[in-house]
Amino acid sequence: MRLVMASANPHKAIEIADVLREALPEAEIVPRPGDLGDVAENGETLAENALIKARFVHAATGEPAIADDTGLEVDALGGAPGVHSARYAGPGADPIANLAKLMAALVDVPPPRRTARFRTVVAVVFGDGREVLADGLVEGAIATAPRGDHGFGYDPVFVPDEAAPLTFAEMTSDAKNRISHRGRALRALARQL
Ligand code: IMP
Repeated sequence: MRLVMASANPHKAIEIADVLREALPEAEIVPRPGDLGDVAENGETLAENALIKARFVHAATGEPAIADDTGLEVDALGGAPGVHSARYAGPGADPIANLAKLMAALVDVPPPRRTARFRTVVAVVFGDGREVLADGLVEGAIATAPRGDHGFGYDPVFVPDEAAPLTFAEMTSDAKNRISHRGRALRALARQL
């Protein structure tokens, strides 16, 4: 089974390929072709956005496609940034600006109230029209300052309960994948395929 990756984010693509190598060894994971252009991620849920991306890449390539959409839900912010995590600091915002906005929004929030979770929905769209979805989440908290050099996005400030006090950015990619939202969603997906 060939699966074309919808993500152009190299960090995400590596995590997806690493997890699926173990969870779905029969799949050949193909990188996203460089000339596909962009699709507007204007869904109201992670599932809608994952499907928008997977359908777009499937339509452009004619091959089965896999996409993920991820949100960081912070309880003290009423679940924000959630589905808007990629553009929290504004349209086209980069990850550093998003992270800075998050830390500013939480500056007066003490550690016990900094609980949060990452949620991922993965979607696969096949040539016969079959669409398979799965989700995964990891509970944790937002650190009071960024720590660590690994990973990407909000990893330097996310402390998963299962590895506290380490942030995702202080963990190896294998350790992150074992407990992460994305790892869990992909393993749940593999069980359905
Ligand atoms: P999207 O799924 O590409 O739309 O990502 C949403 C936002 O969450 C982006 O700002 C990403 O940088 C961030 N993000 C997605 N996955 C992770 C992760 O595993 N760790 C940290 N940040 C992430």
